[in-house]
Amino acid sequence: DSAVEVRDVRKTYHVGEPVRALDGVSLELSRGSYTAVMGPSGSGKSTLMNLVGCLDTATEGTVVVDGRNVMELSGRERTRLRGQEIGFVFQTFNLMPRLSAVENVALPMVAQGTPRAERTELSLTLLERVGLGDRAEHRPNELSGGQRQRVSVARALANDPALVLADEPTGNLDTDTGDRIMELFAELHAAGNTVLMVTHERRIAEQSDRIVHLLDGTVDREESVNSPRRST
Ligand code: ADP
Ligand code: ADP
Repeated sequence: DSAVEVRDVRKTYHVGEPVRALDGVSLELSRGSYTAVMGPSGSGKSTLMNLVGCLDTATEGTVVVDGRNVMELSGRERTRLRGQEIGFVFQTFNLMPRLSAVENVALPMVAQGTPRAERTELSLTLLERVGLGDRAEHRPNELSGGQRQRVSVARALANDPALVLADEPTGNLDTDTGDRIMELFAELHAAGNTVLMVTHERRIAEQSDRIVHLLDGTVDREESVNSPRRST
């Protein structure tokens, strides 16, 4: 079975004039796959991510995440599914400015009711995994952009999610720093996580297995990628 199945999904926003953001999109993510979504601004990339991430529901069609039909879940059940199965990485990092790196990483575990000692220990392990073991007590404004994104990747892994969603994770980073963040995603993929990433950079998208091109709310075309970098 698949990690995610999007079937003939439409999404219309009603803010003044109705806007059809997705107009019949189907997409299957097999478990452990690594998919990049590209497309011009306004083509529906963020809308698709929000639906897969259980942050919003489709107007028509079906979204199945980890075998569960998102459309049939209550708001509370969706929140739970999101907390347990999905890790998010954002272009703007979305860290809490007053919390230390280790506290930021631990936040999703607070929501899941993990005891404090366990949270801290696991968060430190995750920070070490992303190369920031020595920055645990730093606040976001004491870290570089690349380091902040590392904290945010560690936070995305806090509940050991099967699915990692990333919306322009390198969008605010210089090339070298972005490449180092991409190495972390390659590691997640190698470890068996399913990864779905939005990017407008071809070079970044080519690190995935498959690129899905959106255009005007539909899948324009898909291409498979064989990155020489990752065949070693
Ligand atoms: P992309 O991420 O590819 O730039 P989006 O999914 O953000 O595309 O947007 C697709 C279309 O839906 C655009 O026309 C956008 O203006 C519209 N849209 C996105 N989010 C909303 C919203 N919350 N309310 C109204 N319109 C929206
Ligand atoms: P910056 O944002 O300062 O350009 P990065 O965020 O990419 O740098 O890296 C932060 C620090 O972590 C650097 O000192 C880098 O050498 C180190 N580092 C990067 N990747 C790893 C890793 N996978 N394991 C251990 N240390 C790492």
